[in-house]
Amino acid sequence: MKKITLSPSRVKDFLQCPLMYKFKTVDLLPSPPSIEAIRGTHVHLVLETLYGLDAHKRSLETALELGVSVFENVMDDIKSKDALAILQETVDDSKKRDEYYEQVNNCIYNYFKLENPKVYEPAALETWIKTTLEYKQGEEEISVGGIIDRLEIARTGEVRISDYKTGSMPNVQFQNDALFQMFFYALIYARENDGKLPKMVKLLYLKDANVIEREPTNQNLQETEEVILSVYGQIQENLKSGHWEARSSPLCNWCAFQTRCPLYTDAGSIPTIQDRY
Ligand code: SF4
Repeated sequence: MKKITLSPSRVKDFLQCPLMYKFKTVDLLPSPPSIEAIRGTHVHLVLETLYGLDAHKRSLETALELGVSVFENVMDDIKSKDALAILQETVDDSKKRDEYYEQVNNCIYNYFKLENPKVYEPAALETWIKTTLEYKQGEEEISVGGIIDRLEIARTGEVRISDYKTGSMPNVQFQNDALFQMFFYALIYARENDGKLPKMVKLLYLKDANVIEREPTNQNLQETEEVILSVYGQIQENLKSGHWEARSSPLCNWCAFQTRCPLYTDAGSIPTIQDRY
């Protein structure tokens, strides 16, 4: 069996489309960078830096200043030449730059509508957490991990895991999909802490100032583990057989590998999503 580590985004990729997972994770083909992803990194860095300050210094004004001052660090963090080129193009064009900063600032303003950072003392920020799960009654151990944006432990010992999103809150029918990531983290936390469940998981949507919060249950964690194990099994089968299903959906419109996908390139034509639904 090929050793693989599963994260929430890898599982989500596979569930969306096994072929896309293969292009990204097995073939390691690069995905073109987007300004949205860069902006997300920027906002995360602002909040991480803000929480590194003493609590009384965590004001909106300071956060807005950080929005400008961490920019150099965002540039330093970006390893891909293509991503750097996109960012450079944005900052060199005054209209694009203003729009970019307007959206960063909007996320910061909205963050302060949702929380008062002076009252939280995170135990961890932007931290990789990992554990192992048993596959086929212990025949094999699977590595699972992910990066949590913020973890707090109350004086009473209760734990909360929070994650920032720079997009909008999804519609009700997609909120369980969004929560999968948080239950994934809760599962890792519980595994590494003698089964202790986090009291709360929280998704903060900074584009439209919305929050999804849940108290994870053992049932949530069990269902999450079942999905992870099932995806792991399917990936191993696909690796063995070499067959990866191309699973079309409206999300194909955002797939970086459309030009390699048989659904889009067979017969020499590239059908639109509308043609196939
Ligand atoms: S275009 Fe759609 S079906 Fe093809 S690889 Fe991408 S997500 Fe999968």
